[in-house]
Amino acid sequence: MSDKFRLPARYGTGEKSVWVEYIQLVADIKPKLNLGQGLPDFHAPSHVPKALMEATDSENPLMHQYTRGFGHPRLVQSLSKLYSPLVGKEIDPMNEILVTVGAYEALFATILGHVDHGDEVIVIEPFYDCYDPMIQCAGGVAKFIPLKPKKVHDNMTSSDWILDEKELESLFSDRTKMFILNTPHNPLGKVFTRQELEKIADLCKKYNVLCVSDEVYEWMVFEPLKHVRIATLPGMWERTITIGSAGKMFSVTGWKVGWAYGPANLLKNLQIVHQNCVYTHCTPIQEAIARAIEFELSRWNTPDCYMSSISKELVSKRDVLNRILKDNGFITTLPDGGYFIMADYTKLANKMDLSTEPDKYKDYKFTKKFAKEASIVTIPLSAFYSKEHKHFGENYARFCFIKKDENLALTGTLLQEWQKRSHL
Ligand code: PMP
Ligand code: GLN
Repeated sequence: MSDKFRLPARYGTGEKSVWVEYIQLVADIKPKLNLGQGLPDFHAPSHVPKALMEATDSENPLMHQYTRGFGHPRLVQSLSKLYSPLVGKEIDPMNEILVTVGAYEALFATILGHVDHGDEVIVIEPFYDCYDPMIQCAGGVAKFIPLKPKKVHDNMTSSDWILDEKELESLFSDRTKMFILNTPHNPLGKVFTRQELEKIADLCKKYNVLCVSDEVYEWMVFEPLKHVRIATLPGMWERTITIGSAGKMFSVTGWKVGWAYGPANLLKNLQIVHQNCVYTHCTPIQEAIARAIEFELSRWNTPDCYMSSISKELVSKRDVLNRILKDNGFITTLPDGGYFIMADYTKLANKMDLSTEPDKYKDYKFTKKFAKEASIVTIPLSAFYSKEHKHFGENYARFCFIKKDENLALTGTLLQEWQKRSHL
């Protein structure tokens, strides 16, 4: 009986994801500061919730009924207006864009819609944790390649973390179906340069591989670096599916609107997965995101446009948190994009007794003890590595900095109080 109702093997062993586990940790210990899961603790730009109020308040009764399954017409049109100039081609809103339940579902539809039994998928480590279980669910085989620091020193930036070109090419073969790229990168904050992307693009073309580009942090890139969309490189549009997120774009992660765009022949497979799973996303939320994008397009290239002002706001937050972490014994990697800092905690952990925490991996032990003692929740980095490579991440914790300035300052106070109390 119990065996009959076991979890199907395609879902692995049924372990909870780091998000499920750490949201529970937050609920259990009620920390003074949650720098774990990536979410802003401040309000979205006011026109965004206003657009939702107006959409739900509308005279139009259809605003509360099902909308077009592959994307609310007004939203796919506004996405086409937004991205067409950025990719240098007219994107067909009806056939080349799919609106999904967050970027998560876009990833799921892309992977399940393309990966077949035995297909190999190349994934860069560390990687956003859901890629691997999704590949397994599709019956695919993930092949991992780690980003490694050129040289370890005290003032590293995410650009110091690179792929070994020979190792990269060695993973490509006739069996390779897909390459998953994430730029700006979570958790490292690496923004892949044009040269790095050209290398990846050349290999994708040489081995006839589909490139999936997870670009949810596309608006969070710090000068002098620039976000390059791999779909814009020669010969890449036809083999790239790009993924975005309204949650990241407008600081409304709870709205869970995402999308995938790419050529119609590739998007078709995602539409089938989507139609047989959630079928459609909520109408008023899609309407509100469409209106919000239209508003931003009306002030594009002005300093007020949220898609550019958010980076400026974040860069000073990054610098504040980075300074606080360094001053308190962490060795950080300064990110060039996104909203996370990866910090090596080993100088502190060497003076702590982590044996009281029953977890298997050292970073889980550290982050849990740290959450309880310093009252700051962070995310253990081994969660972003495959089973075989967890040790690469075990010395790091990830800190989220899309937080109010007063909460970033509170990090310093809490760290100092904790170090004093614990005689570190
Ligand atoms: N990809 C990456 C790299 C992420 O960090 C996240 C988390 N926002 C997602 C995808 C999922 O995004 P969403 O919240 O839109 O589902
Ligand atoms: N992408 C966010 C992060 O990395 C949120 C993760 C999630 O909720 N699954 O923190």
